[in-house]
Amino acid sequence: MGFSGIRLYCRPMPPQGSNLRLYRRLLLFVGAIYLLWWLAVRFILPSAFNPLGSRLAVVLAIWCVGLASFVSEAARRHLTSLFVAGLWLLTAHYFYLSYGNGFDHNWVVGAFITVSAISLAIFSRGALFAYSAFTLSLSIAAVVALPALRDSVFLPGVFTVLLQANIGMQSRLRVLKSLEESTQRFRLLFDSTFEGILIHEHGRVVQANDAAVRLLGFQNDELVGRQVLDLVPVDEHALLGDAPDQSAPVQVQVVKRDASPIDLEVRGKPLGDGSQQARLLNLRDVSEEKRQAAALKRSNEALERSNIELQRFAFVASHDLQTPLRSIGSFIGLLQSTYGESLDAVANDWLGRSQQSAKQLQTVIHDLLEYSQLETNARPFSPVPMAEVLQHTKTLLDAVITESKAELTYGELPMVEGDRSQLVQLMLNLLGNAIKYRGTEPPRVHVSAEPEGLGWRFAVKDNGIGIAPKHQQQIFEIFKRLHAAKEYSGTGIGLAVCRRVVTRHGGRIWVESEPGHGSTFSFTLEKEPYP
Ligand code: ADP
Repeated sequence: MGFSGIRLYCRPMPPQGSNLRLYRRLLLFVGAIYLLWWLAVRFILPSAFNPLGSRLAVVLAIWCVGLASFVSEAARRHLTSLFVAGLWLLTAHYFYLSYGNGFDHNWVVGAFITVSAISLAIFSRGALFAYSAFTLSLSIAAVVALPALRDSVFLPGVFTVLLQANIGMQSRLRVLKSLEESTQRFRLLFDSTFEGILIHEHGRVVQANDAAVRLLGFQNDELVGRQVLDLVPVDEHALLGDAPDQSAPVQVQVVKRDASPIDLEVRGKPLGDGSQQARLLNLRDVSEEKRQAAALKRSNEALERSNIELQRFAFVASHDLQTPLRSIGSFIGLLQSTYGESLDAVANDWLGRSQQSAKQLQTVIHDLLEYSQLETNARPFSPVPMAEVLQHTKTLLDAVITESKAELTYGELPMVEGDRSQLVQLMLNLLGNAIKYRGTEPPRVHVSAEPEGLGWRFAVKDNGIGIAPKHQQQIFEIFKRLHAAKEYSGTGIGLAVCRRVVTRHGGRIWVESEPGHGSTFSFTLEKEPYP
């Protein structure tokens, strides 16, 4: 699976690796065949001119080139030229034998076979061309030396064989050139991916891209040939990618060459039609992701802990404050009823104000308690008909509606997925505010709903005093009030409760308003999933 193999044909360069092995095998093979021919001639044409000495010298020369490539760097560097020189020598020797045998028809046929076989073993255009010129020169010399050959097929035959070899080489080169181009494009793609890729056969790495080299910290040639399991210790299934397309990703910690750890996500994939044992491993560095996820988890846990502590504190504080406050209220009441008549007007006014403040404080504590218990009292979601929620809210607000002569209308309201009691609380706060923050006219409030995205958008529209744009964000913060308690009673907690309820339901809440022209509070809720 090397990329260098086809370079052999396109650009003559010192053979390396598998090419070197190919040349050595060819030299051995060519020498052996030529020697076998001696034996064949000896049996088939016993009376032919067939001296063993010169043939042995040629074969030994060819084999020596192969042997020299093992010991000499220079021989290795010039192996291509030495190889071709060996083929020239063999051809020349064959012509010498043919001449000795008067180029009878057996030797002519042998010449065609020899020349075409040798042509197939030459891999560069220039070398083949030079070999053709050499062979043709030998052939012409033979025709000159043996004029009888002029009347045979010998010369046109050799010419045809050489022509065919040269034309064949042209088309082979074209195919190989386009193959080399697409291989280069593939290599570029292979190396430019951010994911590491290891290709392995029978568990041994045969190719690695640049990203894999970077991820694992090894040089490319250090990766090739290694057991893939030594590099990426994942279970067999993930490694082999037996699934038709690719295996599920597995996360594994790998030790790089410099002994530093790295977290990788590994996916295995069979290569091609899966009949070969070649597999591909995709490697993605997830160390940073893992670090960030762990940090996020830690800060979420810390946040959750501090939230729980805060809620616990708010609950305990408001709960414990309620009892003494109730006593203060009742003692002030007792003071007023028992000694009210004997006190002067100023003292009575002070008692009245104290009573008022105690009541206000009680309301704040009640609302705070409600706010702090939102999570703890939360119930699982279920399908809730919003029309029923509104009806229930209306009943709870009955007294206020009658007293303020409010007109409360609503259109068709859908089912939603939520916590019923929290949705009642939400509507109670919004409708209560719509009536409380009324202008001079009797309040008119309309509730509507329309689909939005995957859920619903609800709107509570009133004809009240309205809210200036600069306050429209702040009013959802806890304790944020725009009016003094004397003007409009309240604690500044109602809308904060609304926001928490809507957020818990996966929605958002906002207001659109113009001072003096009423307000529209909108919020979104998810659709009931199984209508
Ligand atoms: P509270 O009503 O107890 O003061 P809220 O959190 O319910 O607290 O409301 C915060 C502020 O938002 C109120 O003080 C009021 O100024 C303003 N507000 C809320 N609803 C309306 C409304 N429908 N019209 C005008 N102003 C409103």
